[in-house]
Amino acid sequence: MSALLTIALSKGRIFKETLPLLAAAGITPLDDPDTSRKLILDTNQADVKLVIIRATDVPTYVQYGAADLGVAGKDVLLEHGGEGLYEPLDLKIARCRLMVAGDPHHCPRLNRPRIATKYANTTRRWFADRGRQVEVIKLYGSMELAPLVGLADYIVDVVDTGNTLKANGLAPLEHIADISSRLIINKAAMKMKHARIKAVMAKMAAAVGG
Ligand code: AMP
Repeated sequence: MSALLTIALSKGRIFKETLPLLAAAGITPLDDPDTSRKLILDTNQADVKLVIIRATDVPTYVQYGAADLGVAGKDVLLEHGGEGLYEPLDLKIARCRLMVAGDPHHCPRLNRPRIATKYANTTRRWFADRGRQVEVIKLYGSMELAPLVGLADYIVDVVDTGNTLKANGLAPLEHIADISSRLIINKAAMKMKHARIKAVMAKMAAAVGG
C-alpha cells in the first residue's frame, strides 16, 4: 500500500465546493463533516484521509506537514504568508473580493484612521505599501459592527454580494485583492509523494471550471 495522503479542509462552503473536485480525483469522503463530529474523515481510498479544521488553520497544518495537501482561501494565504507551501492551483471556488469598506459619508480621524479587521498582516502591508498611516485593530468576527459603534473608521473584510455591508449602512470603498480558494501543498510532501500528489493535482486541475 502507498503512503498515507492527508488533505486539510474547512467545513462549509470550501468543503462543499471542493467535493466535486476531489470526486474528479477519485476521492469521496465516507462521512459528512456537517453531521459527523469526527475530525479525521476516511475516504473511499484507504490511504487518503481528510482532516477537518478551521479555515485559518489550514495553511499551518500543511506548512508543518500535518497535512500533505489543503484547500485555503487566498485571503487566508495572504494573511498566513505562505511559508513552507506551494500554491500550484487556483480552484476558482469560494470567490469574493478583499475590500476596504466603510460608511462613505463618515469623516475619518485625520491622523491615522483606524481599520478593524481579522486580516491584520495583510491590512498593515497594503496600507504601508501605499504610504498610508493607519492603526490596525485585530478582530475575530463581525467586522461590520466596528464602524457602527465608533471602534474603527473602516474595515477590511471579504465581500461577496455586498449585502452584509449594505445591511449595516456600509459600502465597499477600495479593492485589495480578488479571492478564491487554492490548492496548497507541503513542500517536503511534494518531493516525497511526488507522483501521487501530481496525479491528484492533474485530475483536480482538469475538473476546475473556467
Ligand atoms: P456578502 O455576500 O458580501 O454579504 O457576504 C456575506 C458574508 O460572508 C460576509 O460577512 C463575508 O465576510 C463572508 N464571505 C463572503 N464570501 C466569502 C468567501 N468566499 N470566503 C469567506 N467568507 C466569505
